[in-house]
Amino acid sequence: MSAPANGHKPQEEVHFRTCTVCEAMCGLEIRHAGGEVRSIRGDEQDEFSRGHICPEGNALQDVHAGPDRIRHPLRRTADGWERVDWDEALDDIAARLIAIQREHGRDAVGVYVGNPTVHHLGPMLMLGPLLAALRTRNRYSATSLDQLPHMLAAVKLFGHGLPVVMEQERTLIWRRVCQGGRLKFRRELVAETV
Ligand code: SF4
Repeated sequence: MSAPANGHKPQEEVHFRTCTVCEAMCGLEIRHAGGEVRSIRGDEQDEFSRGHICPEGNALQDVHAGPDRIRHPLRRTADGWERVDWDEALDDIAARLIAIQREHGRDAVGVYVGNPTVHHLGPMLMLGPLLAALRTRNRYSATSLDQLPHMLAAVKLFGHGLPVVMEQERTLIWRRVCQGGRLKFRRELVAETV
């Protein structure tokens, strides 16, 4: 970000926000000036995370400033991507969804809901009405992608949905513990088989 024309450096401000990347929802202290993020660290006053964040929280700075980040709606045309405004994009998407469902049935539209959608206030408020309007049975989530097969395999193999890792000599359970915003993996020996 270039310096203002009057030569003054932009004043640094601090925003306190919540990381929506995962369910820990850590408190963030974001220092920024002139639209540029200078640092992201854990908010020590946050009741839940108490100053702790994981590397993904820090990396939000890179996501924010990334050159490939999509910052406005784009429509694919025969000549490439063209920028459109939000009203036009939403009207276009709504018209196409309606046309697809009219022609192929409600289940022709699939929906995916996952991190960070379900940890953000806007989607949390609007997702219900959208899903109710679509009335499709094809609804997928982060759980249906990578958790349910894992749990089903554990149920079939060990009789319980907890993630269980078998080793040749021992049976171990990996317990995912979320403490103060830092995800820790605690390895707990529960049964010796030798
Ligand atoms: S654990 Fe990491 S990704 Fe999850 S909310 Fe905290 S900082 Fe964000």
